[in-house]
Amino acid sequence: MGAAYIGRFAPSPTGPLHAGSLVAALASWLDARAHGGQWLVRIEDVDTPRCVPGADRTLLAQLACCGLAPDLAPVWQTRGTGVYQAALDRLVEERHAYPCGCSRRDVELALDALGRPHRRNAELVYPGTCRAGLAGKPGRAWRFLTRAAPVEWNDRRLGPQRQDVESEVGDFVLLRADGLWAYQLAVVIDDADQGITHVVRGEDLADNTARQILLQRALRLPTPGYLHTPLVLGANSEKLSKQNGAQPLDLGDPLQALNSAALVLGLPARTGPVGQALAAWSHQWRDSYNLPGD
Ligand code: GLU
Repeated sequence: MGAAYIGRFAPSPTGPLHAGSLVAALASWLDARAHGGQWLVRIEDVDTPRCVPGADRTLLAQLACCGLAPDLAPVWQTRGTGVYQAALDRLVEERHAYPCGCSRRDVELALDALGRPHRRNAELVYPGTCRAGLAGKPGRAWRFLTRAAPVEWNDRRLGPQRQDVESEVGDFVLLRADGLWAYQLAVVIDDADQGITHVVRGEDLADNTARQILLQRALRLPTPGYLHTPLVLGANSEKLSKQNGAQPLDLGDPLQALNSAALVLGLPARTGPVGQALAAWSHQWRDSYNLPGD
């Protein structure tokens, strides 16, 4: 038998829960319940400039109102940043990470010189300029040294996935030039620290998975199972967000909000108390998603 199931919902406190983020919250809760596992909540607040004061409390109150209570007390990333430094030190020691002195402009110029396109998903594909050393420039950030080998992984909804991180993403940032820890490193360390066995999150994050698997391998941490849930689209056909009209959840009618999220997950609308609806959905979950037994 594998490790006991531990799942999580890891919102960034950049605003209240909305119809899109509730889908990921509900799916991760249902998956944990369907497996008889634990469900944890982690407030991902390392990107402090994007955090909105009080949004963490609002998110937790909204989850509670929807009957989604974590099995252990929630944790905040900023309470444990020492562990990220220890992980970076280890990566540097084992030559998986190197300092980078490039500004955004430097990266754009280097890509021009190589005749390569600038962007992929709005991010610059770092061409590895500082791999050979800083050439007298001061170090600004720390990057993970990727290798030309595709990462293959299986998503329980999207199926087999493959990404060559070196050519498609480039050496990615671990510690940012502004001194903040990058999401990729923080999420990998936190998932491992909390013993997360299954990650269930929105499909917009699927593209990060290969980077996270590379970090897990370099740090000799286990790779959890992954399931990326369908996105709720906003008026402009992009992922629903505050910028394209997402409204905070109506706490006056949590069942209605849950029913909308359930629909996105292919589950039928329910009536009655929230607790009963959640229990019924968790029983249907395994069949609806036709999950391989684990
Ligand atoms: N904090 C991330 C977000 O809110 C989610 C991270 C994750 O689930 O891996 O987009």
